[in-house]
Parts: sequence; C-alpha cells; structure tokens
Amino acid sequence: MKTETERLAIHGGTPIKGTPFGTGRRFGLEEAREVLEALEQDTLFYHAGTKVKGFLERFNHLYGISHSVAASSGTAAIHVALGAASVSVGDEVITSPITDQGTVIGILYQNAVPVFADLDPRTYNLDPASVAKRITPRTKAILVVHLAGTPANMDPILQLAKQNGLKVIEDCAQSWQARYRGRLVGTMGDYGCFSTNDFKHISTGDGGIVAVNSGDEADYRAVHAFADKNYQRLAGEVFRDLSTLAPNYRMTELQGAVGIAQLEKLPGICRRRREHGERLTDGLREIPGLRVPQVPEGGESTWWFYLFRLETGRFTCSRDTFSAALQAEGIPCAPGYIPRVLYKQDLFQKKQAYPGSSFPFSLSEVSYADGLCPEAEAILADSIRLPISEFFTDEDIDQMVAAVRKVARHFIAE
Ligand SMILES: *Cc1c(COP(=O)(O)O)cnc(C)c1O
Repeated sequence: MKTETERLAIHGGTPIKGTPFGTGRRFGLEEAREVLEALEQDTLFYHAGTKVKGFLERFNHLYGISHSVAASSGTAAIHVALGAASVSVGDEVITSPITDQGTVIGILYQNAVPVFADLDPRTYNLDPASVAKRITPRTKAILVVHLAGTPANMDPILQLAKQNGLKVIEDCAQSWQARYRGRLVGTMGDYGCFSTNDFKHISTGDGGIVAVNSGDEADYRAVHAFADKNYQRLAGEVFRDLSTLAPNYRMTELQGAVGIAQLEKLPGICRRRREHGERLTDGLREIPGLRVPQVPEGGESTWWFYLFRLETGRFTCSRDTFSAALQAEGIPCAPGYIPRVLYKQDLFQKKQAYPGSSFPFSLSEVSYADGLCPEAEAILADSIRLPISEFFTDEDIDQMVAAVRKVARHFIAE
C-alpha cells in the first residue's frame, strides 16, 4: 500500500509543488529611461542615433570583440551571417536537426540547401563525426547551434571547417554567455548570431546581433551592408550598391535602447541560470533510469531550458505519461522540444520552400529520409523539458528534483 505522499498527483495524491514558482519583472525604469532618451533624440534610425551603437559597443565589450552588427531578429542575424559568408544558390549548409526554424530560414532564402548532421546523445549538439560525413564539394558552411544554453563541441568542428575551407556560423540564440573551454560561444566561428526575441535570456521584443569575429574591416562592412539593403554607410559617404541582393533587417533605436539596459542584467541572469542547471543535474543524476544532459568538458551552459532523457525501457510508462505525471506534480514540463526533427517537417519532406517549386532542393542530392539522424530522433522521442528561469529559487529547483524522483520511483520497473 502506497502512502499519501507517494501516491502520484495524477492518481489523486498531493502534488509536490504546492507553492508558486519564483517570478520577477524583466523590464524596469532602466529600460524606460533608455527608451525615453531614444525618443528625445528625435530619430529612431540606428545610424543617426546612439542607442543601437551603444548596445553593440556594450556587446563587443562583454564578448571581447571589435565588431558586431545589429539585426531585426535572430533569424535575420543568421541570414545576414550567411549572406556575408557568400552562401549562395545551390550551396549546402550543414546544421542541426533539433533547433528553432530560424536556423534554416536564411539558408533557404539564399537558395542554399540545409543538410542535417546527427547529434551527440548527451549534449544535443552537432556530432563532429556526423558533420564530417555530410561534407560534399557543395558544402559552403557549418551552422552550429548551441542548443538550450549548452556549447557545442567546437574544436573538432572548427578543425573540419579549416581542413575543408568552410565558413563557421554559430547560432547562439539560446546560449547567451555560454562558454566552451573558456571561450565565449559566438566568438569562435566566423560569425556568432544572437537573438533578443521575447523568450530569450534578454529581450528587446525582437532583435538580433551578428558578432564579426575576423576583426577584419572589409568583413565587418559586408555584414553591415547585408543587414541594410546593401547601403554602405561606414566609409563616410553613403554608397547604395545594388550589385547583389540584401534584405532590410535594421534594428531601430527603440530596441537598441532596451538592449542597453538588458545587457546590464545579462551576467546576473546567466549566473542564476547556470546555478539552476547545475543544481538540477546534481539532483537528477542519481535517479535511476534518467540521463541528464552533459556540458562538454571545460564548458559552461547558461540553460535556456533543461532537457533530460528517460531510458524508456526501464519504466513501466511512456515518456508522455511520465511528463503528464510530472505536470500533475506542479512542474510545468513538456515532452521533448520541437515536435519532430526539422527534416521530418513538411517543408523538407515535400521539398517545397516556395509554393509550387522544389527550388533550391532540386539543386542538391540531399536526403531527408526517416532515420537520417537517429540520435536526434531518439532525443526528441524520450526527453522531457523542464523550464528554467532566473527568477526561480533554489527551493523551486529542489522541488523539481523531488517531483521527478517521485514520478521515476513510481514508474521504474522493478
Ligand atoms: C530563437 C531562435 C532563433 C531565431 O531567433 P528569432 O529572434 O526568434 O528570429 C534561431 N535559432 C535558435 C536556436 C533559436 O532558439
């Protein structure tokens, strides 16, 4: 006979989490003052005002780089990096199948073809051995996603890129201030792309940044022009070069203003998230049947969310039932992350990015078959996602661990 505390909430027992999670406000007078100053400039144009420039200066200082460019979103930032890397019609770009669609949108707008490599089963980031197998004469770039705050295993990827003459673009939308062997994520590839959409570590409503890591002035100008309809404003006189296509992905002074205040808060936000993720791993790693996420040796995750895996054969319930039981305990978890790996979504299955056309897929032999990336498919099938917030308390984290332990103990096969 199970006691009252052991009975699962989903079976009518008492939920482990009886108190609300810690909350807080992301925006305060700091942001309001900056926005007011932006308006008082009587221009909201990034090149005429001081706010976007100030936002980027602070970003450069935090990241120890000399050049970066603002964009209207993280998706835009990635497209800008691809454009600056001269990714063009029929090129292949190797990337991760578990990510936000913003990772691949720019590839397709350049009429290049996304190629998916498999993932490390513990970090959920690109497996360098699989990347190596996907390189063809058409490959132009590797677009590395640092998923959920955790750094990818960059050294072998950088080495592959060097050996094969490929550009490396880092998608850091979920990994502000994460580190790989001491180096900040976003500063290792040719370009590092960041998002400030409203769900990321810091928010400007929408927005993005491209870190230009070469430190080269011509490279910086190419990135800058690609985000601004090919206007070349950095050499003094404005030059409107329409020799190639570039979108308008400019950030306004309003986003820049909010960004200045948000960057001040970033280190504290990342510190709290790091502590919460480590506390979760410390608590969950002892629970039989669970596989906790791994951070590469010498790396630091800033945990945008926390994804752990179930050894499903060891439980008497499905992953979805485990997740539902955990939710009933008062933990706002969810099964997996995106519903399917990207290549199983219709756009790739039908090879139709543009209505009525199979271009640019028709330029490549690329496969999007089931089983293409077995580890990635397995991760989405047996994982559970816990939310992380800098406003959570240590007690909130401990209660998450207690709830997972309770559910795992109930469903573990004897
Ligand atoms: C959020 C996100 C993007 C896109 O950023 P937006 O600002 O929403 O356009 C790209 N890649 C990843 C991994 C993301 O999480």
